[in-house]
Amino acid sequence: MSVAPARVVVVEDEEAVRDAVVRALAEDGYAVAAFSDAREPQAILHGAPDLAVLDVLLPGGDGFALARTLRAHRDVPVVFLTARDGVSDRLAGFEVGADDYLVKPFALEELLARVRAVLRRTGRLSEPLQVGDLLIDESTGDATRAGHPLGLTPTELRLVAFLARHRGKLLSKTQILTQVWGYDAYGPNLVEVHVSALRRKLETRGSRMIQTVRGVGYRLVP
Ligand code: CA
Repeated sequence: MSVAPARVVVVEDEEAVRDAVVRALAEDGYAVAAFSDAREPQAILHGAPDLAVLDVLLPGGDGFALARTLRAHRDVPVVFLTARDGVSDRLAGFEVGADDYLVKPFALEELLARVRAVLRRTGRLSEPLQVGDLLIDESTGDATRAGHPLGLTPTELRLVAFLARHRGKLLSKTQILTQVWGYDAYGPNLVEVHVSALRRKLETRGSRMIQTVRGVGYRLVP
Protein backbone atom coordinates (compact mmCIF):
# COMPACT_ATOMS: atom_id res chain seq x y z
CA MET A 1 0.00 0.00 0.00
CA SER A 2 2.30 2.80 1.10
CA VAL A 3 5.92 3.40 2.06
CA ALA A 4 4.93 3.66 5.72
CA PRO A 5 1.65 1.82 6.35
CA ALA A 6 -0.58 3.28 9.03
CA ARG A 7 -0.13 1.49 12.36
CA VAL A 8 -3.15 0.12 14.17
CA VAL A 9 -3.16 -1.39 17.64
CA VAL A 10 -5.97 -3.75 18.62
CA VAL A 11 -6.90 -4.50 22.25
CA GLU A 12 -9.46 -7.28 22.47
CA ASP A 13 -9.63 -10.21 24.89
CA GLU A 14 -11.85 -12.47 22.78
CA GLU A 15 -9.33 -14.44 20.79
CA ALA A 16 -11.59 -15.17 17.81
CA VAL A 17 -12.57 -11.51 17.42
CA ARG A 18 -9.00 -10.34 17.93
CA ASP A 19 -7.59 -12.76 15.34
CA ALA A 20 -10.23 -11.85 12.78
CA VAL A 21 -9.73 -8.11 13.28
CA VAL A 22 -5.95 -8.39 13.13
CA ARG A 23 -6.10 -10.48 9.97
CA ALA A 24 -8.54 -8.12 8.26
CA LEU A 25 -6.47 -5.04 9.12
CA ALA A 26 -3.23 -6.70 8.03
CA GLU A 27 -4.80 -7.74 4.73
CA ASP A 28 -5.93 -4.16 4.23
CA GLY A 29 -2.29 -3.07 4.44
CA TYR A 30 -1.93 -1.85 8.02
CA ALA A 31 0.91 -2.65 10.38
CA VAL A 32 -0.97 -4.28 13.25
CA ALA A 33 -0.12 -4.98 16.89
CA ALA A 34 -2.52 -6.78 19.20
CA PHE A 35 -3.06 -7.07 22.96
CA SER A 36 -5.53 -9.10 25.00
CA ASP A 37 -5.87 -6.84 28.05
CA ALA A 38 -5.61 -3.24 29.24
CA ARG A 39 -2.76 -3.82 31.66
CA GLU A 40 0.14 -2.44 29.65
CA PRO A 41 -0.69 0.94 28.13
CA GLN A 42 3.01 1.65 27.60
CA ALA A 43 3.38 -1.50 25.53
CA ILE A 44 0.21 -0.67 23.63
CA LEU A 45 1.66 2.71 22.67
CA HIS A 46 5.11 1.35 22.01
CA GLY A 47 4.80 1.20 18.23
CA ALA A 48 3.46 4.79 18.09
CA PRO A 49 0.09 3.66 16.66
CA ASP A 50 -1.94 5.88 14.32
CA LEU A 51 -5.20 4.39 15.58
CA ALA A 52 -6.38 2.15 18.40
CA VAL A 53 -9.24 -0.36 18.15
CA LEU A 54 -10.35 -1.00 21.74
CA ASP A 55 -12.80 -3.48 23.15
CA VAL A 56 -14.89 -1.94 25.95
CA LEU A 57 -14.93 -4.88 28.38
CA LEU A 58 -11.35 -5.90 29.01
CA PRO A 59 -9.44 -7.72 31.71
CA GLY A 60 -7.33 -5.23 33.63
CA GLY A 61 -9.62 -2.24 33.09
CA ASP A 62 -12.31 -1.12 30.70
CA GLY A 63 -11.66 0.26 27.24
CA PHE A 64 -12.81 3.76 28.17
CA ALA A 65 -10.28 4.05 30.98
CA LEU A 66 -7.63 2.62 28.69
CA ALA A 67 -8.49 5.18 26.01
CA ARG A 68 -8.13 7.97 28.54
CA THR A 69 -4.70 6.68 29.56
CA LEU A 70 -3.54 6.24 25.98
CA ARG A 71 -4.73 9.67 24.95
CA ALA A 72 -3.01 11.30 27.89
CA HIS A 73 0.22 10.22 26.25
CA ARG A 74 -0.52 10.18 22.56
CA ASP A 75 -2.98 11.87 20.24
CA VAL A 76 -4.35 8.56 18.98
CA PRO A 77 -7.83 8.17 17.46
CA VAL A 78 -9.91 5.41 19.04
CA VAL A 79 -12.53 3.10 17.56
CA PHE A 80 -14.40 1.15 20.26
CA LEU A 81 -15.79 -2.33 19.90
CA THR A 82 -18.71 -2.79 22.24
CA ALA A 83 -20.97 -5.70 22.99
CA ARG A 84 -23.36 -3.41 24.78
CA ASP A 85 -25.60 -1.15 22.79
CA GLY A 86 -26.45 1.21 25.65
CA VAL A 87 -26.71 4.93 25.04
CA SER A 88 -24.67 5.71 28.16
CA ASP A 89 -21.86 3.54 26.85
CA ARG A 90 -21.81 5.45 23.60
CA LEU A 91 -21.77 8.75 25.43
CA ALA A 92 -19.02 7.58 27.74
CA GLY A 93 -17.10 6.53 24.67
CA PHE A 94 -17.46 9.89 22.99
CA GLU A 95 -16.64 11.70 26.21
CA VAL A 96 -13.27 10.01 26.32
CA GLY A 97 -12.70 10.98 22.73
CA ALA A 98 -14.03 8.01 20.79
CA ASP A 99 -13.74 8.69 17.10
CA ASP A 100 -16.14 5.91 16.26
CA TYR A 101 -17.54 2.67 17.66
CA LEU A 102 -18.94 -0.60 16.42
CA VAL A 103 -21.49 -2.77 18.18
CA LYS A 104 -20.72 -6.49 18.16
CA PRO A 105 -21.26 -8.49 16.10
CA PHE A 106 -19.98 -6.35 13.25
CA ALA A 107 -18.84 -7.06 9.70
CA LEU A 108 -15.10 -6.81 9.18
CA GLU A 109 -15.64 -4.68 6.08
CA GLU A 110 -17.58 -2.26 8.26
CA LEU A 111 -14.67 -2.08 10.68
CA LEU A 112 -12.22 -1.47 7.82
CA ALA A 113 -14.44 1.29 6.43
CA ARG A 114 -14.65 2.99 9.86
CA VAL A 115 -10.90 2.69 10.44
CA ARG A 116 -10.17 4.16 7.02
CA ALA A 117 -12.65 7.01 7.58
CA VAL A 118 -11.19 7.90 10.98
CA LEU A 119 -7.63 7.81 9.65
CA ARG A 120 -8.66 10.11 6.79
CA ARG A 121 -10.57 12.47 9.03
CA THR A 122 -7.65 12.77 11.45
CA GLY A 123 -5.19 13.41 8.64
CA ARG A 124 -3.40 10.10 9.00
CA LEU A 125 -4.32 8.63 5.66
CA SER A 126 -4.51 9.73 2.06
CA GLU A 127 -5.65 13.34 2.37
CA PRO A 128 -2.40 15.21 1.68
CA LEU A 129 -1.40 17.84 4.21
CA GLN A 130 -0.59 21.27 2.83
CA VAL A 131 1.23 24.14 4.50
CA GLY A 132 2.15 26.90 2.08
CA ASP A 133 4.03 25.27 -0.79
CA LEU A 134 4.75 22.17 1.31
CA LEU A 135 2.69 19.12 0.43
CA ILE A 136 2.83 15.92 2.47
CA ASP A 137 1.14 12.70 1.42
CA GLU A 138 1.46 10.26 4.28
CA SER A 139 -0.23 7.43 2.43
CA THR A 140 2.38 7.45 -0.34
CA GLY A 141 5.25 8.76 1.80
CA ASP A 142 5.86 11.66 -0.60
CA ALA A 143 6.65 15.19 0.48
CA THR A 144 7.28 18.06 -1.91
CA ARG A 145 7.94 21.78 -1.75
CA ALA A 146 6.78 23.80 -4.74
CA GLY A 147 6.53 20.46 -6.54
CA HIS A 148 10.11 19.36 -5.78
CA PRO A 149 10.43 15.99 -3.98
CA LEU A 150 12.18 16.40 -0.62
CA GLY A 151 13.48 12.84 -0.23
CA LEU A 152 12.43 12.52 3.42
CA THR A 153 13.13 9.41 5.50
CA PRO A 154 10.06 7.73 7.09
CA THR A 155 10.91 9.38 10.43
CA GLU A 156 11.30 12.80 8.85
CA LEU A 157 7.98 12.30 7.10
CA ARG A 158 6.22 11.47 10.39
CA LEU A 159 7.91 14.46 12.00
CA VAL A 160 6.96 16.96 9.31
CA ALA A 161 3.41 15.55 9.15
CA PHE A 162 3.04 16.02 12.91
CA LEU A 163 4.35 19.59 12.69
CA ALA A 164 2.04 20.23 9.72
CA ARG A 165 -1.03 18.89 11.53
CA HIS A 166 -0.27 21.40 14.28
CA ARG A 167 0.90 24.21 12.01
CA GLY A 168 1.38 27.56 13.68
CA LYS A 169 1.41 25.93 17.10
CA LEU A 170 4.45 25.79 19.36
CA LEU A 171 5.30 22.14 20.07
CA SER A 172 7.65 21.10 22.85
CA LYS A 173 10.43 18.60 22.20
CA THR A 174 8.74 16.22 24.63
CA GLN A 175 5.45 16.45 22.75
CA ILE A 176 7.21 15.79 19.47
CA LEU A 177 9.16 12.92 20.95
CA THR A 178 6.14 11.07 22.34
CA GLN A 179 3.98 11.74 19.29
CA VAL A 180 6.50 10.94 16.58
CA TRP A 181 8.67 8.31 18.23
CA GLY A 182 6.36 6.81 20.82
CA TYR A 183 5.56 6.67 24.46
CA ASP A 184 8.84 5.36 25.81
CA ALA A 185 11.24 7.22 23.55
CA TYR A 186 13.58 9.63 25.29
CA GLY A 187 16.20 12.20 24.52
CA PRO A 188 15.48 15.67 23.12
CA ASN A 189 18.66 15.20 21.06
CA LEU A 190 16.78 12.78 18.85
CA VAL A 191 14.28 15.53 18.06
CA GLU A 192 16.99 18.14 17.50
CA VAL A 193 18.95 15.93 15.12
CA HIS A 194 15.91 15.07 13.04
CA VAL A 195 14.58 18.62 13.01
CA SER A 196 17.89 19.94 11.65
CA ALA A 197 18.00 17.24 8.98
CA LEU A 198 14.40 17.99 8.04
CA ARG A 199 15.07 21.72 8.03
CA ARG A 200 18.01 21.29 5.62
CA LYS A 201 15.82 19.36 3.19
CA LEU A 202 12.89 21.78 3.47
CA GLU A 203 14.99 24.88 3.10
CA THR A 204 16.93 23.90 0.01
CA ARG A 205 13.55 24.33 -1.70
CA GLY A 206 12.26 27.53 -0.16
CA SER A 207 12.14 29.90 2.77
CA ARG A 208 12.40 28.98 6.45
CA MET A 209 9.42 27.00 7.73
CA ILE A 210 10.50 25.55 11.06
CA GLN A 211 10.92 28.16 13.77
CA THR A 212 12.97 27.30 16.83
CA VAL A 213 11.79 28.68 20.16
CA ARG A 214 14.89 28.38 22.33
CA GLY A 215 14.58 26.01 25.23
CA VAL A 216 10.99 25.17 24.32
CA GLY A 217 10.50 23.60 20.93
CA TYR A 218 9.46 24.19 17.37
CA ARG A 219 6.71 25.63 15.26
CA LEU A 220 5.96 25.07 11.57
CA VAL A 221 4.79 28.15 9.67
CA PRO A 222 4.02 28.67 5.98
CA1 CA B 1 -14.21 -8.19 25.94
